Amino acid sequence: MTHASAGFNRRQFLTQASCFGAFYAVAGAIPRTAMTSPLGDDPRIASTPIVDAGFASVRKIGEGAYATISDTSKGLTTMCNGGFVVGKDAALLIEGFVTANGAAFQMQALRKVSMVPAVGALDTHYHFDHSCGNSFYGANGIQLWGHAAVAKRIADSYSPMQAADKVAVLAPVQKRIQDAKSDLAKQHEQAYLGALSNVVDIVKKTTLTLPNRPLDPAELPMTVDLGGYPVVIETFPGHSGTDLILRVPEQKVVFTGDLIFSGAYPACFDEQATMSGWRATLKTFASYDKDTIFVPGHGHVCGQEGIAAQRGVFDDIAEQSEKMYKAGVPAPEAADRYEIPEKFKTLGMFSWNFCIGPAVTKLYAEWGKK
Ligand SMILES: [Zn+2]
Repeated sequence: MTHASAGFNRRQFLTQASCFGAFYAVAGAIPRTAMTSPLGDDPRIASTPIVDAGFASVRKIGEGAYATISDTSKGLTTMCNGGFVVGKDAALLIEGFVTANGAAFQMQALRKVSMVPAVGALDTHYHFDHSCGNSFYGANGIQLWGHAAVAKRIADSYSPMQAADKVAVLAPVQKRIQDAKSDLAKQHEQAYLGALSNVVDIVKKTTLTLPNRPLDPAELPMTVDLGGYPVVIETFPGHSGTDLILRVPEQKVVFTGDLIFSGAYPACFDEQATMSGWRATLKTFASYDKDTIFVPGHGHVCGQEGIAAQRGVFDDIAEQSEKMYKAGVPAPEAADRYEIPEKFKTLGMFSWNFCIGPAVTKLYAEWGKK
């Protein structure tokens, strides 16, 4: 392989992030992200993947560190990103993905590079696209690690969805579409309906599997030695109230879960998402070494420029929201009125009311609702 094609492949890996492609098809014409990353020429990132299934590829990003990056335009087997870390004695897998086949795909990739036992698989948080494939690990005797609140959040969020009639789950959204006070509000609710409908379909097909190694946030950070290979598991506020990251300090590699959406608007819908907490978390990430490689929950692998980009998105949402807040625009109206600036038009989005709408209303709530 020539150097030029190696660089091209690396760049493809870094720019192939069309998060939630299938959802975009439902939600309407949302542009695919085409952001390039300065990491395109980083020699730590292998030019050739160890495996590429279309829906996801797995690539070495450091000694013993591998990233699984999804391309949802080619299928929803994995949907989120993940990866694994490998020491002399053991390996640790990251994410349960959206299907058991997705988790199996990653396990096979691990077995291409090492036969050491997997001490566990870590869900970075409870959301369906990171946990609906957990049953693979359960069936294969691999311990499932997660924030101590993950089991309850999966049970509370997805068990009722499995039991309920789909029409009943979607009915409140249908009603909001009927009652929408503006065309914008109606459009946003319609996109939300499409996205939620997909979530229900996925959850109904899933054998829900809960972590059997709950990690108490009071006991984090926790260092795990995989055999001359220390990794650190930490918790941070922001996306879901159950967010864990995995750092490999010696490789300057960080798996962040959905605390980073690379090339996309962050999903802020979770009842435990916190704007001030999330922005503080990103400030911490920005203080990490300038050569850090971040594996986000969705989108391309990024460096510090990816952290700066997401902070810029939050700054813009906060700035526009504050203007509306000061002008007395009520929260529900402001949630629909944020304007995507030209510079962010290429960002992906998992439907407005999963991302921007709740970001605005949560900011309002933090300021004291109007
Ligand atoms: Zn998430």
